[in-house]
Amino acid sequence: MTKVRRIIATTHEVSLKGGNRRWFERRLTANANRALAGLPVAGLSRPAWRLLVTFSEPVPFGEAARRLSTVFGLSAILPVHHAGYDLEDVIAELGRRVPAFSPRSFAVRCIRSDKSFPMTSVEIEREAGGAVQDLTGWPVDLTNPDLTIHLLLDRNGFWIWMVRVPGPGGLPTGTGGRGLCMLSGGIDSPVAAYLMMKRGMRLDFVHFHSVPATDPASLEKVRELVRILNLYQGRARLVMVPLLPIQKEIVDRCPESFRILLYRRFMMRIGQAFARNFRTRALITGESLGQVASQTVENLTAVQSAIELPVFRPLIGLDKQEIVTLARRAGTYDVSIQPHIDCCTYFVPDHPETRTSAEELETVESVLDVKALTEAAVRDAGIERIDEAASWERIPIPPEALERRI
Ligand code: ATP
Ligand code: MG
Repeated sequence: MTKVRRIIATTHEVSLKGGNRRWFERRLTANANRALAGLPVAGLSRPAWRLLVTFSEPVPFGEAARRLSTVFGLSAILPVHHAGYDLEDVIAELGRRVPAFSPRSFAVRCIRSDKSFPMTSVEIEREAGGAVQDLTGWPVDLTNPDLTIHLLLDRNGFWIWMVRVPGPGGLPTGTGGRGLCMLSGGIDSPVAAYLMMKRGMRLDFVHFHSVPATDPASLEKVRELVRILNLYQGRARLVMVPLLPIQKEIVDRCPESFRILLYRRFMMRIGQAFARNFRTRALITGESLGQVASQTVENLTAVQSAIELPVFRPLIGLDKQEIVTLARRAGTYDVSIQPHIDCCTYFVPDHPETRTSAEELETVESVLDVKALTEAAVRDAGIERIDEAASWERIPIPPEALERRI
């Protein structure tokens, strides 16, 4: 894998935040520091709207890019070479670098953030482009170049890069409030967590299980998912809630077709209790409209009417295939597809209700002591602190970072 000594990571939305800008940037830098821990980082500075990472020895670019791809708020990850302080230095550096490439056409693009430099960016582009053309004979194409040679001029001099890895986008995790994510162990809910963290939210997690009726190994699977999600945010709490006593009551006393919806209402109530306890302002689920019978608009709203807290469903408008693509990018897919028995696959009805209402669910659950069952589950739940993160190998290396010539 090609090695680099310096990386510039750019920000987009973060640089637009007026009054909060410094706070956003401090979070972003802290998150980048955490992601790079263990690599030989010599310095991490923040000139203008960029992060400049300097390594004390060359590191594989793919490895650094993989880690920075978990830092929300970054819009691009650039393996840069320092190219001195004037145009002659730049042309000499280009003379050393460009022969490795053989594009059909090229262009030079310059960003000049040091306004004291005597040439404009267009003049720099022309001079540098002319020098490259003299050296290589490559045709210039300014509208759709095969290779773009980027130059950045700032108070540290000139930087060159030829490869651009898209960043993860979003806002720095930790700047968007707190949420409690209902994490099942399937494909969807870890992606819901990923998307909320991407908008800056810090998450804790709650998982409902039917142990001992189901295999306790499923709990370890959920812990591993939290460890993967910790690669984005550091650490999290995971509440493990035994749902079996409630499920048994529902199976014994309520009509079969309502089972899943009634389990869900209890999950919401218990989730709300922990959200309040943790001072989080929303519950997050991986529901997607129409994916299964419990996720029709009627059923989603009827279930949610059991609680007051807002429920965020970032996957509501996504297709399964789009969710799978995101799960692979987030690094959760391989763990999610390991077989496990979810608590809701336990005693599932053959013909679940597809269109119920809040009133109907209140009627069918009126035979239960809802308050006592909820309180007992909250009392019997275990709160785990998951401080460790999974191996970085879980996160895919961005394909653009595998380019051999940078
Ligand atoms: P997933 O892939 O996340 O399991 P799913 O498509 O299987 O989702 P459902 O089983 O209907 O969908 O669950 C919908 C949502 O309800 C989940 O995305 C999750 O947020 C929540 N949920 C379901 N089961 C559990 C559970 N055992 N523990 C915590 N949350 C759960
Ligand atoms: Mg599920």
